[in-house]
Amino acid sequence: MVTSAPAHAAVSVREVGLRDGLQSIARTMPTARKIEWLRALHAAGVREAEVGSFVPARLLPQLADTAEVVAFARTLPGLVTSVLVPNLRGAQAALDSGADAMLLPLSASHAHSVANLRKTPDEVVAEIGRIRALRDASGSKCLIEVGISTAFGCTLQGLVDEAEVVRLVRAALDAGAERVGLADTVGYADPLQVARLFERCFAVAGDRLACGHFHDTRGLGLANVYAAWQAGVRRFDACLGGIGGCPHAPGASGNVATEDLAYLFASMGVPTGLDFDALIALRGRLAGWLDGEPLHGHVWRAGLPKTLRGQARA
Ligand code: ZN
Repeated sequence: MVTSAPAHAAVSVREVGLRDGLQSIARTMPTARKIEWLRALHAAGVREAEVGSFVPARLLPQLADTAEVVAFARTLPGLVTSVLVPNLRGAQAALDSGADAMLLPLSASHAHSVANLRKTPDEVVAEIGRIRALRDASGSKCLIEVGISTAFGCTLQGLVDEAEVVRLVRAALDAGAERVGLADTVGYADPLQVARLFERCFAVAGDRLACGHFHDTRGLGLANVYAAWQAGVRRFDACLGGIGGCPHAPGASGNVATEDLAYLFASMGVPTGLDFDALIALRGRLAGWLDGEPLHGHVWRAGLPKTLRGQARA
């Protein structure tokens, strides 16, 4: 356990609504609206965003404009722009786009990996090595981050062995990943499991273990964020309005809501750089843009408590 970190060390939040959120919503948002959304996120203090995915447009037509969205995101000062990349071809597109980072998913669940990517986890590790060689040969500085998905359990396979997660973290780093994160893709994690698995992976990866990605499918999203923070994690993925539902649990909550995450850390005196009021205002606009889609989260209903007013930009 990392207990030496100062209690008030800043936490950074990567907004993933434009990727994880939109990919689970059937309708396609116009590019101009994605740009409006990104501009408002940036104005609200967001400094890292995953803005799309370089997968074939026939699989995810919602994200077919990713290159255009990256081009706009790069004009926002200080914004780190990442994209999801499933394979070497996607990595080439990410390099061409000028994104700052690419996120490669690696399923810890063998069954999920084969169903989702038609590759075993070790075949994905081999692809990570090829992507690292491609990146290095290109001269690009695009950072390679691996997200270990289904790290806490899987809808297909059920239990995922913790030793397998630790093994894959090490294998991803050995293959050339510069950063890794752990993702509770389907909302199976509990806080004690989160603390335990992050501690085991920190022992292998050190500060290269740098992201927690939690879904609130069963209401434990923020409890799991807190457990990961206690274990030393200082960077989290989140979606404004908690969008990003689980295809295996229709109607369930999606990712942890960015505004709730901002509130959690503000309430503990931990700075995130996020402007709470701006996030809530944007959430209202997002609800209109996604009219009919369920949004989630809690704090938007009641607003900040009086005790936190005046500290909204924590
Ligand atoms: Zn997710």
